[in-house]
Amino acid sequence: MKKRLESMDIKEKTVIVRFDYNVPIRDGKILDDTKIIDSLDTLKYLLKNDCKIVILSHLGKVKTEEDKIKNSLEPVVEKLKILLNQEVYFSRDILDPILPEHVKTMLPKDILLLENTRFLDVPNKLESNCDIQISSFLASLGEVFVMDAFASSHRAHASTVGIAKFLPSCIGFSVERELAALNKFLMSPERPFTVIMGGAKVEDKLELIEAMLKKCDHLLLAGGLANSFLKALNFDVGSSLATNDSHIIENLKNILLNNREKIMLPLDVIVGSSYDESYTKYKKINEIEPDDMIYDIGVKTLEKYKIAILESNTIFLNGTMGVYEDIKYSNGTKELLRILKENEKIVVVGGGDAVSSVKYFGYKDDFTYLSCGGGATLEYLINGHLVGIDSIMEEKEIEVLDV
Ligand code: ADP
Ligand code: MG
Repeated sequence: MKKRLESMDIKEKTVIVRFDYNVPIRDGKILDDTKIIDSLDTLKYLLKNDCKIVILSHLGKVKTEEDKIKNSLEPVVEKLKILLNQEVYFSRDILDPILPEHVKTMLPKDILLLENTRFLDVPNKLESNCDIQISSFLASLGEVFVMDAFASSHRAHASTVGIAKFLPSCIGFSVERELAALNKFLMSPERPFTVIMGGAKVEDKLELIEAMLKKCDHLLLAGGLANSFLKALNFDVGSSLATNDSHIIENLKNILLNNREKIMLPLDVIVGSSYDESYTKYKKINEIEPDDMIYDIGVKTLEKYKIAILESNTIFLNGTMGVYEDIKYSNGTKELLRILKENEKIVVVGGGDAVSSVKYFGYKDDFTYLSCGGGATLEYLINGHLVGIDSIMEEKEIEVLDV
C-alpha cells in the first residue's frame, strides 16, 4: 500500500518527521517519556535507511513570549541522545535562514530537532493557521515528509497538513499503530460493545456520546457529564457541575428517550460541599441537597456497571468516573479500572485524563490498548477521519491497516 512508511523511497534521503513530543516537563525534567519511546520505531527505521532526519514537534500551549521559556523542546534532545545513544542536534531558531544550508551538510543518520513549532504562533499564529510560506520553508528542508504525531492529526497546522502539501508524504509507525488499533477494536468492535464515559463537561462530549450511541450496546455514564443527564431527568443535582443550557438539556432528554435501553446513569454518589472542603458523604441519587457537589460514583453504581461489563466483549473507556485527582473522590475510577482489569475483556482507553488515570492507578500494562491521541482519538471516533491524515491517505487506505 502507498503512503505507509515502509513503501516509501527514503533510502539516504533527507526526511522531515513530525512527532508528538508534547510531554509533561517539570524543572527541565521529563515526567513521562511514553511519547518519545513511541517515536523510536520510526526513528530507528529512518536511521537503518541512512536518512538525514529533521524532527518537528510542538510542546504545550504557546501564546506569549513568556510561554516559550517553559515550553522549549531542549529536554527532549537530551532524552533522545540517551535513548538512541548518538548525537542529536538542536536548532533554537526554527526559521533560521542558514537552516537549509545546515541540513545540506548533515551526514546520513544525523538527527536535527527543531525548536517547538508553536513558537511560530507568537505573534502571528503562523503554525496554527497553517501559513503557506512557513509550510513551504519547512518543507524545503527535506525530500520526504513523515507524519507520525497522531495526537496532532486533528489540527491543520503548518507542521502537519502544511508540509504535506509540498512533499511526498506518508504516515509513520506510531500513527499507523493508532489507526489500526482504533479501527480494529472500536470501529468494528466485537459485540456486545460497552462504552463508559465520564469526565467533566457534557458540552465537550456530546458529539462523542451521539457517535458512540450509534455503535454501542450499553453506554454507562459517570462524572460531571452524568450530572447533566440526571438534571435532564429532573433529579436535583445541587451545586454539582452540570449544564444550565436549556437547549442542551432538551437534547439530553431526547437522547435519553431514544436510547432508554442503552444508557445507564449513577444510582449513588459521593458528594462534597460547596462551602466545606472537608465534608464528604455517600448519598443515593435522590438525596442530593442544594450545597452538595457530586464528585464520584458510589458502590451500587459500580455493581450495576460491572454487570454490563461482564456481558460485554469490548469496552471503550473515556473520561473518569469522578474527580480522581483528589483521593476523596478517586475510588470510583480506581475500582472501575480494577473491575476492567479482572475481567480480561478487550479494553481500549482513550482521552487524556482517562489514560492518565490508568497510569496513575498502576494499570498501564493491563488493557488491550491505550490510545495516546487525546482529542484526536475522540475526533477520529466521531468523524472517522482526521485532517492531518486526509492530506496523506484516503479513508479506504486507512480501513485496511492491520494491527
Ligand atoms: P478525557 O481527558 O479522558 O477526555 P475529561 O477531560 O472529559 O476526560 O474529564 C476528566 C476530568 O473530569 C478530570 O479532571 C476530573 O476531575 C473531572 N471530573 C470527573 N468527574 C467530575 C465531577 N463529578 N465533577 C467535576 N469534575 C469531574
Ligand atoms: Mg481531559
